Amino acid sequence: MRRVSIFGATGSVGVSTIDLIARDPEKYKVVALTGGRNVARLAEQARALDAELAVTCFPELKEELADRLSGSGIAVEAGPEAVVEAANRPADWVMSAIVGAAGLLPGLKALEQGATLALANKESLVCAGEILMRTAHRHGADVLPVDSEHSAVWQALVGEDISDVERVIITASGGAFRDWPLEDLPKATPEQACTHPNWSMGQRITVDSASMFNKGLELIETREFFGFQPAQIEVVVHPQSLVHALVGFRDGALMAHVGPPDMRHAIGYALNYPQRRSLPVERLDLVEIGALEFRAPCEIRWPALRLAREVMEIRGLAGAAFNGAKERALDLFLAGRIGFTDMAAVVESVLEAMQAEDALKCDRMRLEDVIETDHFARKRADEAARRINKDS
Ligand code: NDP
Ligand code: MG
Repeated sequence: MRRVSIFGATGSVGVSTIDLIARDPEKYKVVALTGGRNVARLAEQARALDAELAVTCFPELKEELADRLSGSGIAVEAGPEAVVEAANRPADWVMSAIVGAAGLLPGLKALEQGATLALANKESLVCAGEILMRTAHRHGADVLPVDSEHSAVWQALVGEDISDVERVIITASGGAFRDWPLEDLPKATPEQACTHPNWSMGQRITVDSASMFNKGLELIETREFFGFQPAQIEVVVHPQSLVHALVGFRDGALMAHVGPPDMRHAIGYALNYPQRRSLPVERLDLVEIGALEFRAPCEIRWPALRLAREVMEIRGLAGAAFNGAKERALDLFLAGRIGFTDMAAVVESVLEAMQAEDALKCDRMRLEDVIETDHFARKRADEAARRINKDS
């Protein structure tokens, strides 16, 4: 039996992962499941899968989780350290689907015990790609892409020589405000930003899709996963979300990955790799679809793309600063304390300030520097937001 753990089990990717695992109960032994606020769902999942351990990252919810699991024999833990500790339990395959930089430490711990890490948590790669890949290498562990675009690139590269690749194109739906007049964007509300035209995802990544911060993170993720130069990586707006990515080779061929917007495809590919197994996803009817639409991304509408390219130029700790500032700006937007377009202004201001202070350089990335940069960027984001509010 394959031992699997799922970090962020109660979220959108976690639930899709469990949907696949639960279809093959005789194949998997579930070791650890972790969640956050949704302890009711976590307890239900742990019972259904007969997990060894259930962990909520909130210490104050431990009692409730324990009550819900009483009599089950399932161990219960709580708190951020307990989440990391859960990754220490031997497992063969670990899904990293916590949202945000909080996914970094559990992912590293899973790699240290040699598990294959299926990585939905792109923030880990953006903040500390160098450390994650170094850790995987040192422990002979694999990091597999789960983000749909990166799974698509990975699949298009099977059997190819990476030096034959000229360019990679990742697609973006354009999110909730793709067709809004530019002058309306500053007034966009969190509620409006939390709807996605094609994908059903967690709240934070849905807003990041509307602002294109998600695609900015994914530009960096593409470089970290595959080692392409920033100039080789392009973003194209594709409102239908059917073509997830394309890889262009030196002979002019473009290999596209086409599929329905259902994360169970990318999760299933990482779960079954190197095999392909039947998956419960919709089969596309190309005639019904009729035509595929592609557009150039507008950098005025989506400054996050320009900022992500700057981050790729700066390198070093810029990814950690970018992500930390972005996460904090998103918190402030969701709390109604800054406007939608202020998020990019906050992140830009943090990057500028930290670069001016020479705080983003590093020769060899160290974990403590990444964590400090993340904290500092969040603090700086608060200051930038206060300035923006005072000026407006
Ligand atoms: P969700 O918000 O739906 O789920 C996040 C999960 O993480 C939940 O289990 C949540 O618990 C838990 N969690 C939240 N905060 C913390 C914390 N501080 N420490 C530990 N656990 C925490 O997110 P998604 O499933 O949408 O996304 C997960 C990751 O996958 C993100 O990195 C996202 O960018 C990436 N991704 C998602 C895709 C999607 O289709 N959803 C597609 C591609 C990538 P609870 O809900 O119980 O509070
Ligand atoms: Mg994606």
